[in-house]
Amino acid sequence: MILHLKPNVNDSKIAELAAQLEAIHLTEGADVQVLVTPSKLKEVPAVAAPYVAAAYPMDTDIQLASKSYKTATREVRFGQVVVGGNSQNTVVIGGPCSVESLEQITQSAELMKRLNISTLRAGCYKPRTSPYSFQGMGYEGLMLLRQMRETYGLNIITEVKDSSHVHDVIEHADIVQIGAKAMYDHSILKACGAARKPVLLKRGFGTTLQEFVQAAEFILSGGNEQVMLCERGIRTFETKTRFTLDLCGVAFLKEYTNLPVILDPSHAMGYRYGVPDLARACVAMGVEGLLIETHPNPAVAKSDASQQLNHAEFTAMFESLKPIAAAVNRNLI
Ligand code: PEP
Ligand code: MN
Repeated sequence: MILHLKPNVNDSKIAELAAQLEAIHLTEGADVQVLVTPSKLKEVPAVAAPYVAAAYPMDTDIQLASKSYKTATREVRFGQVVVGGNSQNTVVIGGPCSVESLEQITQSAELMKRLNISTLRAGCYKPRTSPYSFQGMGYEGLMLLRQMRETYGLNIITEVKDSSHVHDVIEHADIVQIGAKAMYDHSILKACGAARKPVLLKRGFGTTLQEFVQAAEFILSGGNEQVMLCERGIRTFETKTRFTLDLCGVAFLKEYTNLPVILDPSHAMGYRYGVPDLARACVAMGVEGLLIETHPNPAVAKSDASQQLNHAEFTAMFESLKPIAAAVNRNLI
């Protein structure tokens, strides 16, 4: 159950109530004091009743992210970009899988600038499946991304792999990406909950929708209201494609959660041939954004070479999304 407290309740009373109810305390908006109790509560407990301005009973541990708590999609802002809220924006986020060199990331940034795309994404700390694969440029890559932001005025998004660099990413990136493999890392979720930066939380490939949204609850209950969910494919029995993009799951997220949804067809497909078709299908679903990998020369990419579009393919795909966005009443930005 989510409880909004009356404005005059003092700090020590809030702490006392939180302890009595085994609740998490957070502040929303300018100064709304909120207690989130275990979801099984059906009625406001008598000890809390005199201090409660509004109560929202919940059936499951999807609470702060639930549509029955906030009916409108939450607004998330980065730079000049707004998604969710009253906007009908679908943001395209592009860039290579990894930052590899100044030259490569400059070419990527110039492509985004040319297409009027506001947000550049590339990994610096790569959670690779093999220790023998390229592990990313780390802090040096993060500084190159910063340079792209300063030179081209782009928002930058990069992923956190573990807690050793979470604070560096929070400090320097405009959006913090939590990758599919890091989604269960509580030290990352906690650090992102304490941060006041937008977070893109990717779904683990073996994660149920309930578990996925509960991971988002860790960030929201830390007081960070800027969380976006990213579907990037789940593992099924199928092996011809890398993963299976769960569009049914996306319909669930849209129906039952208040968080903006970003779709990543690149990692789901694993092969560039399917990415443009999937991107068009994703835009047709009326989601808040798309994440697409593109590399100046995919053949020599140090990670995810098979799925990255070259710049001509990316440009053609991006242009093809515009009439689809218009048809479903979205602004492609
Ligand atoms: C990535 O975004 O480059 C990445 C590694 O994705 P995921 O965490 O979805 O595997
Ligand atoms: Mn990748």
